[in-house]
Amino acid sequence: MKSFNIILILFLFLTAGVHAEQNFYYNSNFNRGDVVTVLSENSAENFTLELVNSREEFLTDNIFFYIETNSFKGYASVIGLDSTLSAGEYTLQVKTQDGIIVYKGAILIHQNLFKKENIQLNYKNTSLRTDTDPEIVSQAVAIHEIYGTSVQKSASGSKSIISPIKNGIITSWFGDRRNFIYSDGSSSKAVHNGTDIAGPVGTEIYAGCDGKVVLSKDRIITGNSVVIEYLPGVYGVFFHMDKIYVLPGDMVSKDTVIGTLGATGLATGPHLHWEFRVGGVPVSPDPLLANGLIDNSLIMSIVSSHTAE
Ligand SMILES: [Zn+2]
Repeated sequence: MKSFNIILILFLFLTAGVHAEQNFYYNSNFNRGDVVTVLSENSAENFTLELVNSREEFLTDNIFFYIETNSFKGYASVIGLDSTLSAGEYTLQVKTQDGIIVYKGAILIHQNLFKKENIQLNYKNTSLRTDTDPEIVSQAVAIHEIYGTSVQKSASGSKSIISPIKNGIITSWFGDRRNFIYSDGSSSKAVHNGTDIAGPVGTEIYAGCDGKVVLSKDRIITGNSVVIEYLPGVYGVFFHMDKIYVLPGDMVSKDTVIGTLGATGLATGPHLHWEFRVGGVPVSPDPLLANGLIDNSLIMSIVSSHTAE
């Protein structure tokens, strides 16, 4: 009887060990500019998700946060894949608060290509882009500080995305490799971090996703600008607006009108520059418009795997 108990206790202990193992769900194939979603049904409180390259060099990270949707309750983390990364295999690693790696997994990033564009700037826009005003530098530092932090610590709702402009015309795409040609004939190269949507001045701009306004300001280069935190460390960015209707701290729904389209700051015509930042990394809006900010196709594959059990 005694030995049976010992075996039973040993058995329960071993089984408990297996169940304590954390399951992380994620897809393994991505394009440059995509968002990687990692989900866990177990607690991942105070855990961090990191992306490292084949030389184990740190690239980007984000916190895990509690998320509750109609079909999923648990922890999620999202990180951005920079559009300038080389194609190949990369490692996802999950770390505890004490820096202990509790999980490692591989993802493959494909060599998707981006458009090239030449942009002629007049004297005024050339002066803006080549201006060395320290205020421009301090505004850039301040906005990147926002991108690199998270204000919110949890999220709810589907986090589906809508285009901020109805019937707008996309004139420039995420990841475009740009060549700015200055008024004196010289040039400089840059990567376009957002999507440009053209329309008449005064066209209503929607928040695009539920979230919290964290910046609402007239900036030198980007004109009237709004930044909304959609998820912890995930930001929607709106530049060159005509009017702004929101203030920092405002909670918005995806269809809240946050202002109107304009041509303020460095703009060659009326358009909205719409950008996503994930842990500071600019990412493409296209997969997010299709699957939501927290990959809904991944959530559905978890739901269907449970139905199959
Ligand atoms: Zn733009």
